[in-house]
Amino acid sequence: MPFKLKIIGSGSAIPTLTRGVTSQYVNFNERHILIDCGEGTQMQLRRYKVKMQRLKIILISHLHGDHYLGLVGLLSSLSILGRTQLLTIYCPAELEELLQVQFRLAGMKFSYPIEFIHLKEGKPEVIFEDNILQITAFPVRHRIPTWGFRFDEREKELNIDPAAVKQFSMTHDEIKKAKKGEDIVRETSYLRNADITLPKQKLISYAYSSDTSYFEQMADYVQGVDLLYHEATFTEKQKDRADKTMHSTAREAATVAKKAKVGQLLLGHFSARFKNTDELLEEASQIFEQVVCVQDGDEFDL
Ligand SMILES: [Zn+2]
Ligand SMILES: [Zn+2]
Repeated sequence: MPFKLKIIGSGSAIPTLTRGVTSQYVNFNERHILIDCGEGTQMQLRRYKVKMQRLKIILISHLHGDHYLGLVGLLSSLSILGRTQLLTIYCPAELEELLQVQFRLAGMKFSYPIEFIHLKEGKPEVIFEDNILQITAFPVRHRIPTWGFRFDEREKELNIDPAAVKQFSMTHDEIKKAKKGEDIVRETSYLRNADITLPKQKLISYAYSSDTSYFEQMADYVQGVDLLYHEATFTEKQKDRADKTMHSTAREAATVAKKAKVGQLLLGHFSARFKNTDELLEEASQIFEQVVCVQDGDEFDL
């Protein structure tokens, strides 16, 4: 599978025996990424058998404790375990400041380099790009500056139709050109790209909305993704509380999914007031049918 999402923690505010606070592990074609790192994430990673040393990128959405309080412990353990590889942390600028104080006062020395890249406020921005994956950070609406993250598979080279290679005795150079989408012009003939390549494969995409109240542009930011993780801290019965704390209801999350025409909606970040997720699921599924309330340890593939 080119994409695997593992839910490390799906609760809000405080860790409980049944739900950890927010964290997710993404393996996007061997790019190993952690999204948020609430308290207890390290233990949850062990519980769900994620190899911590493989992580290359950590994305921190905002500075509420349930999204980052596990970070110092995790960084420290990686050092004790002898990591040497660079770790890049994309985060609000204040997080670096906060961690540097902690590192300095505790005299912490790391066995590996840590690079901090600050998220910018205002508009969506591509923060990471290689030949396979593009990650875009987008601003959401919460009590403090907060970002969501969108993962898009980058345009792949076309696959050549083996039958065409044989039929037209295509040369190595011609195959290279065709893979890039070019037509082949020969002295006495012309090969149309569509006749010598296989149909384009669909590109996969995932978005993580982080903590947010409902706002119109969210549907643009996550438009068309295969999989959307959206918080649903409350139901419409607690709409006042949702507005006050700048969180979403299950209905609002489903409205975003519907407007954005996503493939599947994953709900999480539930308030500890819910003993089970029946009410949340029912509310959301009235608006958008392809919806799941996640549990810690759940895995989703694309
Ligand atoms: Zn939260
Ligand atoms: Zn928050």
